[in-house]
Amino acid sequence: MRKVVTIGEILVEIMATEPGDGFNAPIALVGPYPSGAPAIFIDQVARLGHPGGIIGCVGADDFGRLNLDRLRADGVDVSAVRVDAELPTGTAFVRYRSDGGRDFVFNIKHSACGAVRATPQSAALLAEAGHLHVMGSSLFSPALVEATLSALEEIKGRGGTISFDPNIRKEMLGLPGLEAALHAVLERTDLFLPSGQELFLFTSAREEASAVAEILTRARAVVIKRGADGSSYFDRDAAFHAAAFPAKEVDPTGAGDCFAGAFVVGWLNGVAPGEALRRANAAGALAVTRKGPMEGAASAAELDRFLASHG
Ligand code: ADP
Repeated sequence: MRKVVTIGEILVEIMATEPGDGFNAPIALVGPYPSGAPAIFIDQVARLGHPGGIIGCVGADDFGRLNLDRLRADGVDVSAVRVDAELPTGTAFVRYRSDGGRDFVFNIKHSACGAVRATPQSAALLAEAGHLHVMGSSLFSPALVEATLSALEEIKGRGGTISFDPNIRKEMLGLPGLEAALHAVLERTDLFLPSGQELFLFTSAREEASAVAEILTRARAVVIKRGADGSSYFDRDAAFHAAAFPAKEVDPTGAGDCFAGAFVVGWLNGVAPGEALRRANAAGALAVTRKGPMEGAASAAELDRFLASHG
């Protein structure tokens, strides 16, 4: 099985228990939960029994330990997670608004999660990997951009494959160098996994079919995540749509990462695209039903049970 590696932010998330609007809304908190989009992705990969590891950085503090303990317990190779003695582990605070939107307060820029750099351990992990998953949200620091692009070259140079989820948050837009880095990653991507409108950040086309066709002149496959409307798969010969499973949405953060983890595992293991979409939709549906971004990552047995009970 080709080992999957990802790179980027590992952080803790603290959440408001109830939706609220504005600075003066009353607030109660829950957490911290292990989080960070690449960390959630790779936790889902490992929970499905596929080998996976992450290149990242945490502080030498309790938040760092919380993440390392969880990832390790779920089977993720954390040998390339650097523990920084000076910087604190990154944190994010999330509150849902009454209109269903969400606001984040990130403390990642001056935290350990941006201080990722190449180490002998990251080189060793990359040397045994056959696939790299890149998330646009990880491209927020020059150090991470450099480490990501060099990991990408290393994997591609050895005939490995790349998946890319732009995962762009409004808080990131306008960061210097972000756009160039996103495009540099897409150039080398085999499997592209945007959510909804993210597709249009990468093409001159203004409607979906042409935008997908433009991406498919370079990438092998495009998978569009559509929230409660399910997901679609496109390659140069085929297109499939899979409806979402009914789910009581408690916390959508992490659904796209769990979806991508499950889809990539199917794709790498030769599962037919329609079936891989269905499994990924199931992973996304299970993710939204649980509070906490990584809490909804399902095991292979849970996913099988869910799929069996949904025909
Ligand atoms: P992202 O978090 O990257 O924006 P989505 O919100 O599209 O991604 O969620 C990823 C996948 O999770 C969807 O394609 C769908 O399969 C599943 N999903 C998300 N929200 C729901 C929901 N409310 N009900 C059922 N499935 C959902």
